[in-house]
Amino acid sequence: MTTIPCNRLGAPLAERHAEAVRQLLRFQPFDQVRQALRLNRAEERRAIEHMRAAYPWIAVIIIGPEEDEDLGLCPGLAPHPAVPLPSRTKLLWCADSPGEGRVVAHTCMCQMTSYELLSNGGLYRIRRDTLPRPGVPAVSCASGWRRPEAGQWWQRLLLGHAR
Ligand SMILES: [Zn+2]
Repeated sequence: MTTIPCNRLGAPLAERHAEAVRQLLRFQPFDQVRQALRLNRAEERRAIEHMRAAYPWIAVIIIGPEEDEDLGLCPGLAPHPAVPLPSRTKLLWCADSPGEGRVVAHTCMCQMTSYELLSNGGLYRIRRDTLPRPGVPAVSCASGWRRPEAGQWWQRLLLGHAR
């Protein structure tokens, strides 16, 4: 367990913010920094916003991908995919969706991007729903697997080894 110096608990807000950012830049997990500095919700949010704006790549690693943090409506019934690893396999996402299918598995709907494993006539595909942005359509599919292979790609996606 990493220890974090806690000598700034009584420091004014700006200093606590700066200290939080310093620790986050050393890749301290966000939960640890929050507890060590006893950040309140507003300070937490400010630190997260700062990191996301100034160091988006680090923010994804230590805080996680951007989600709608206002909602807090995670039903907790389906998995959250892990943060994709730098070494991940890039799936080929196509904007055209080949018809409907039976949902075999899905990720949690509280995330900005959610995934479904769909089966249709013995062929499996992964459907991705997200906020559209340049180069990424709202709905896209990676497809064309038989069952065992589809299960493996689904696991890899959940673990951050494929995305
Ligand atoms: Zn969730």
